[in-house]
Amino acid sequence: MVNFVEITILGSGASLLSPDRVLAGLMIETANKPLIFDLGAGVLHRLSCSQPDLTAIEHVFISHFHVDHCSDVPALMQSMWLMGYENHLNIYGPKQIENAFKGITLIFPYLIPKLPLKLHVIKPGFQVKNEDWNVTAFPVDHGDMETYGFLIEADGKRVVYSGDTRPCAETIKHAKGADLLIHECSLPDRMKELAPNHTTPGELGALAAQAEVKTLVITHLYPELLKELGEALSSIRRSFSGKVIVPRDTQIITI
Ligand SMILES: [Zn+2]
Ligand SMILES: [Zn+2]
Repeated sequence: MVNFVEITILGSGASLLSPDRVLAGLMIETANKPLIFDLGAGVLHRLSCSQPDLTAIEHVFISHFHVDHCSDVPALMQSMWLMGYENHLNIYGPKQIENAFKGITLIFPYLIPKLPLKLHVIKPGFQVKNEDWNVTAFPVDHGDMETYGFLIEADGKRVVYSGDTRPCAETIKHAKGADLLIHECSLPDRMKELAPNHTTPGELGALAAQAEVKTLVITHLYPELLKELGEALSSIRRSFSGKVIVPRDTQIITI
């Protein structure tokens, strides 16, 4: 029985692969319910280690429709079906979710009738509320790609997941004073021009300091950043004095 908030980093890697990090995904458990955020390649396997009973999952939030954040969705659906899924699966995502599921229906027509599924289109201000937890979606800045970050409130705690984004005011606003900020930190400061729609360590340190978060978890880590991890952490530390976690996949953080 989980009676606090547990965050499992399922995938902390990025599309240039690291052998021990799969693509984007995390699970937040509260009141014994797993909420899934992003499902990139490899996340389903990590999930099977961390939450073997996939049939307990009822809510999957997709931050945006870059492949590294959603490609395991049909694979999850197939595993749930074979495990005798009887719940109602809610999948939340930006408008592109409608086309994504038209595509899944065309390519895997056998799959859609196999489990009760409800799609929810996320727009700015989108919220899901119930007695145990609230999730608020907020738009972030990932270039031309419609992308949302998420504020999860449960058991008196506040957790923010950035999705993919360059530093943006909406993230600072929603993360203000948060217990935990899980933020992408893709490439070293020196490579900023290669990834203008992502966040570098120096930028992230400044953002975390401005938001006054208690703990920062860095994710969406490219191999170049991991090779220069010491420098990246120093760069974050120049502005941010709170706790910084560089997670391994399947690491559990309890707050
Ligand atoms: Zn992206
Ligand atoms: Zn990404």
